[in-house]
Amino acid sequence: MANIDEKLQKIARDLLESKEVSLIIGYTGGSHPQRMRPVFITKPEDVGRLSFNRHSVQDLAVFLKKQEVKKFGRIGIVVKGCDEKALNVLMQEYQVSRENIKIIGVECNGVIRQDLADKGETDLSENTVYDKCLMCGEHTPILHDYLIECADPQISMSGDIKPFAKIEELDSMSSEEKDVFWEKEFDKCIKCYACRQACPLCYCSRCIVEKNVPQWIDTNFGKIGNAQWNLIRAYHLAGRCIGCGECERACPVNIPLMLINGKMARSIHDLFGYKSGLDVDAKPVFGVFSESDFNDFIK
Ligand code: SF4
Ligand code: SF4
Repeated sequence: MANIDEKLQKIARDLLESKEVSLIIGYTGGSHPQRMRPVFITKPEDVGRLSFNRHSVQDLAVFLKKQEVKKFGRIGIVVKGCDEKALNVLMQEYQVSRENIKIIGVECNGVIRQDLADKGETDLSENTVYDKCLMCGEHTPILHDYLIECADPQISMSGDIKPFAKIEELDSMSSEEKDVFWEKEFDKCIKCYACRQACPLCYCSRCIVEKNVPQWIDTNFGKIGNAQWNLIRAYHLAGRCIGCGECERACPVNIPLMLINGKMARSIHDLFGYKSGLDVDAKPVFGVFSESDFNDFIK
């Protein structure tokens, strides 16, 4: 990956030296060779820390919501195709302005699951990457100021792995069976809110769960409060979630949050023909009205 790293570091150095940006958000080596972590570079002499490889899983767009980052003004950020979709939604929703961002796009053919990487896995295959990589149609970031080509080959798919199988299995359940399934999953939730913190699109300065006048959500641990929290978060992300999977990756009790997000995304696409994050100039799906919209529910 030396070539990629050299290109990345040159772009970052040029941007910092010319003062086009005052901060670069990227990746650097972590606690072992198969673990990468975010890094924040403000000085040209530190760009040698920047690196990118098939372990660069984090969606760095999550940091753009932080006041500590916003205060830097113009920022450079390293994005994969999936991360760029988050950036697009943030721009669509006026949370980030295009002129304040230099997008350093990196082509990516998949990132290796962290649980496998921690055991030393380095091979990129349909069995070692996250499900989101198997479904990815945006290996190359569409919107970018710089683009660094991918060093990895495309994953060959045997056809044995069906990324939508779990959603289809849930779809085939009765309402009662779905209720049992989700009650069991939500029962595990410890209300740590790691899912919210890891999400690039959960950016409200005061989350609904922290409001107590009126109290919209029962913040206690229990059947009703747990379901309220997980469902309201899913609804707040409906038509916005770009499927980066960071919420599920952050959840310490392994609730399959991507099943909810994936189902919502599929429904939004089926009902409104909209896919989140693909077009920075598109109006958010719930921000527009069309006479051809699905209106059966108000009959
Ligand atoms: S809800 Fe999860 S998958 Fe969707 S954008 Fe947020 S972190 Fe990513
Ligand atoms: S990360 Fe998991 S356990 Fe924590 S609040 Fe979210 S769903 Fe619940």
